[in-house]
Amino acid sequence: MTDTAKPINFIQQIISADIESGKTHKVVTRFPPEPNGYLHIGHAKSICLNFGLAELFNGDCHLRFDDTNPEKEDTEYVQAIIEDVRWLGFLWQGEIRYASDYFDQFYQWACDLIDHQKAYVCELNAQQMREYRGTLTEAGKDSPYRNRPAAESRALLEQMKAGSIAEGAMTLRAKIDMASANINMRDPVLYRIKRMAHHRTGDQWNIYPAYDFAHGQEDAIEGVTHSICTLEFTANRPLYNWFIENLAVPTTPQQYEFGRLNLNYTITSKRKLKQLVDEGHVDAWDDPRMPTLSGLRRRGVSASAVRNFCDSLAVAKTDGVVDMAQFEHFIRDDLNNNARRAMCVLKPLLVTLTNYEQDKVEQFAAAAHPQRDDLGERSIAFRQQLYIDRNDFSEDTGLSRKKFKRLVIGDYVRLRSAYIIRADQVVRDSVGEIQEIKASIVPNTVGADAPEGIRARGVIHWVSALDAVDCTINLYDRLFAEAQPDSGDKNFLEHLNPASLKVIQGCKAEASLDNAEVGEHYQFEREGYFCRDGKVSVRLAFNCTIGLRDNWKG
Ligand code: ATP
Ligand code: MG
Repeated sequence: MTDTAKPINFIQQIISADIESGKTHKVVTRFPPEPNGYLHIGHAKSICLNFGLAELFNGDCHLRFDDTNPEKEDTEYVQAIIEDVRWLGFLWQGEIRYASDYFDQFYQWACDLIDHQKAYVCELNAQQMREYRGTLTEAGKDSPYRNRPAAESRALLEQMKAGSIAEGAMTLRAKIDMASANINMRDPVLYRIKRMAHHRTGDQWNIYPAYDFAHGQEDAIEGVTHSICTLEFTANRPLYNWFIENLAVPTTPQQYEFGRLNLNYTITSKRKLKQLVDEGHVDAWDDPRMPTLSGLRRRGVSASAVRNFCDSLAVAKTDGVVDMAQFEHFIRDDLNNNARRAMCVLKPLLVTLTNYEQDKVEQFAAAAHPQRDDLGERSIAFRQQLYIDRNDFSEDTGLSRKKFKRLVIGDYVRLRSAYIIRADQVVRDSVGEIQEIKASIVPNTVGADAPEGIRARGVIHWVSALDAVDCTINLYDRLFAEAQPDSGDKNFLEHLNPASLKVIQGCKAEASLDNAEVGEHYQFEREGYFCRDGKVSVRLAFNCTIGLRDNWKG
């Protein structure tokens, strides 16, 4: 085991003890998504935990698709999930695995249970089954089909499989205990008829195993030693163990449950995220406002920020809600260390330098990152006409130097990596709007202090008007206006933040950004962190990943 500064979580303790006692020789974990949607930040916690434990104990982690329900599953989701796990930087052991690869084995095991009087074909319909099931305080009733001969159940199961029985007419159920205090043990359904094609097995099957009849056995087939899942499966554990005990499985996995990650101001449920996509509340699964891994990636969040965040979370036996500010801290921290610096003017205001020759151009070198020499330099063109941000100019010359460290008429600012300039005159259009500022440079101030008697109010960003490239900027706010949009009986759709996306067109970016790569992170000086969007139709668009400062009010 490698050394770690992180606190040891309870699952690590269990594994360490299992290794010490000789119970476990090689740790095998798995990440088992159902391909019925894209992965979200909650899944990242499970991925980091499972792959992280395998790494820590020199074991293996499998990637396995739990594809037992053809109704909601799709190869689009399979591909997206693979891409997301890769992006996070994890490598699974061996081939990608699929529950559907084990369908023959599951069927064989179902037959074995019937032969041992531990399963039966039941002809109660869904409504009747509910009535027979009982409640939390009342025992259930035995199905009238419970004691039918094994041969009869085998023959019926065969017909169900062959597709000669209507959907809903029959199920295969385990024969356990209709009076169990745990409702999961009241003769749960093992197989349902679904005359539906599966994304991998095609039309081969007309019956599909229940998730509960598949999940634990998948782990047993693969030799998973520690099956780690979220708390909602605690009550299913006795059932999984019952299968393991009653089937001739090759290995016996142990299940441990931990608390799901919930983040405030967003939702972590594939079903609800799918609804946002299907109903057009967002662009797609990878809309940068989505808490999906593909959305975060498109937004400009780095994989290492996601991993660092997940590693900072407690692995506990209770569910909790984590503050978005905690995630944002890791996003910002990572970008601050790694994002290249560049300049982009969101609300351009033209500045003409009256004492600078019209055709002159100078190229100034600027560091790509103030602390990272390894990222090199970029070259910025300087000419007579520039753009600065409208917010960096005020007509109020009475503003104190301390309050307004930007440009006012008659005073000085430094243009980042270039000259100190003085604003001299405002030019207005026919309706009185400010159209242009006439200004002048202070000579010999590039990379040099101001001469005696001149003091710049502050440093502002700018771009050369002739060299700048036009771009669109997408600014994002939280997707929901409510901290816990889906708690209690709230309808999360009613709490969507109507101002979660603001599109600004006609922004002016420094020329080097014309070649910005999708996936490359930038800090636009004084504005925030951005990354180029590879999906939109406009030629050059940047998504704001996050602002520079934490102005979280939560
Ligand atoms: P959802 O409720 O969003 O559909 P799920 O649990 O149904 O999620 P699965 O595809 O079954 O999604 O999840 C794969 C793995 O990820 C499971 O082991 C599950 O426990 C884990 N997981 C899902 N959501 C979270 C979460 N919010 N926090 C931590 N782990 C999660
Ligand atoms: Mg699930």
